[in-house]
Amino acid sequence: MSEQTLLAVQGLTAFYGTSQALFGLDVTIKAGQIMALIGRNGAGKSTTLRTIMGILPARDGTLKLRGQSIKGLAPYRISRIGLGYVPEDRQIFPAHTILENLELGIKPGRPDLPEWTLQRIYEMFPILYERRHGPAGYLSGGEQQMLSIARTLMGNPEVLLLDEPSEGLAPLIVNHIAEVIMSFREAGLTVLLSEQNMHFCLRVATDVTVISKGQAVYTGTVDEFRVNEDVKTRYLTV
Ligand code: ATP
Repeated sequence: MSEQTLLAVQGLTAFYGTSQALFGLDVTIKAGQIMALIGRNGAGKSTTLRTIMGILPARDGTLKLRGQSIKGLAPYRISRIGLGYVPEDRQIFPAHTILENLELGIKPGRPDLPEWTLQRIYEMFPILYERRHGPAGYLSGGEQQMLSIARTLMGNPEVLLLDEPSEGLAPLIVNHIAEVIMSFREAGLTVLLSEQNMHFCLRVATDVTVISKGQAVYTGTVDEFRVNEDVKTRYLTV
């Protein structure tokens, strides 16, 4: 496993108007990691992903992908450089077919990673193949989550940012999404995942960063985190 740092976030601050949401957040993601951002409601998980993607401006701090600054770039440029973002609300196009939604996500492949094709996507999510000519709006919440992930994969990202992928989904679908995320490691993808569901994180993540009040307060491997009752009690128990 490569120890190369892919995404480096240091001292990040971000605001909604005059209200500060991130207070100097640090997180480093190495190639091949599945890093889970865990924290209570309102801790700043979604804001971290939005700020990395350039949807919310980063005020102070640095944001680097493979050593290159992405701070201040428009979201479409950040996505072209190699970050794929699956938002919490999925943002599928309900009146378009599933196939059209997938085609909207297509971006050129990367020299160092196998290209995502419709065939690969359909093997991973057979339901999307079965329903490919139907409108995306008719899919269940779990199927829409799969479509949102699949559409982002069609953009051939190097790092995938997933915002609460298990939220509100039935256990069977959560299981499938967990298996999909675990399979990304073999596909050479690096993942930053925001989650409230600790069991889901313990299952899929290789590493954990805990966020509290807009700051990273703990980082460790998933096995270190699993046995750290102090961190869990202090920052995650409601
Ligand atoms: P959740 O799991 O509830 O989504 P989170 O950890 O993702 O929590 P964020 O959504 O990033 O937390 O919110 C961080 C802080 O920013 C909170 O205090 C929240 O109230 C505030 N915030 C989030 N979105 C907005 C917004 N659009 N306008 C103003 N404040 C916001």
